[in-house]
Amino acid sequence: MLVVALDPPLGLDKNKHAVDIALEIKEYSFSYKIGLPLILEEGPGVIREIKKSTCKPVIVDFKLADIGEVMSYTARRLVDYGADAIIAHGFVGVNGALDALIDQFKRLGFQLILVASMTHRDSEKFIDKHYEELLKIVIDYELHGVVVPATRPWLIREARRILGSKFKIYSPGIGVQGAEPGSAICAGADYEIVGRLITGSESPRKAAEYVSRTQRERWVECRGLQ
Ligand code: C5P
Repeated sequence: MLVVALDPPLGLDKNKHAVDIALEIKEYSFSYKIGLPLILEEGPGVIREIKKSTCKPVIVDFKLADIGEVMSYTARRLVDYGADAIIAHGFVGVNGALDALIDQFKRLGFQLILVASMTHRDSEKFIDKHYEELLKIVIDYELHGVVVPATRPWLIREARRILGSKFKIYSPGIGVQGAEPGSAICAGADYEIVGRLITGSESPRKAAEYVSRTQRERWVECRGLQ
């Protein structure tokens, strides 16, 4: 399934509004992921605007990595603005950091997603060294899921093996960063996060239709399901 990352600049003329693109591709996207760039551009009200106009969930990707009090305050404010899910880094650890966020998601009901690895090369030098421990946090605290790059499909396979079917795997890195649509789904991801391939194309709608169709075709091929 497709999660569209709405990072500016948006559109071929670099001038499109996020809500317009979100509406244009609504038929093909399961949810939208927005981060600091869009919120700096359009303000936090854009979270609710996207939700209201598309009736789809919004994942806020600040990749939070701070002390517990700061992350929990940020999460509360994001939920006030309409966030359905929040992405945080796992490498800060639980005690004094993630524990406060975990407390907030249990109270407020948003979905907490941890970054377990990143698409860039030096992720291997730092974050990936704790990959299994990060996945274990997701299991132990019953979080919603993890972000694992589509550019390293073996990590997705490992995450699926360790997490089982209960937790969601979100995979960015499709298109501009090199992975093919459908490849992460074949490796075991639930969602592929796609940004510029769609938002920077001449027709975001056609690009989203292409990604979504390719995902379905690859799903049938590699999992033998209709
Ligand atoms: O434009 P593109 O499809 O490369 O965008 C990928 C999106 O996924 C961006 O919003 C980026 O922040 C995010 N992301 C990533 N690698 C991660 C985690 C998130 O590229 N490990």
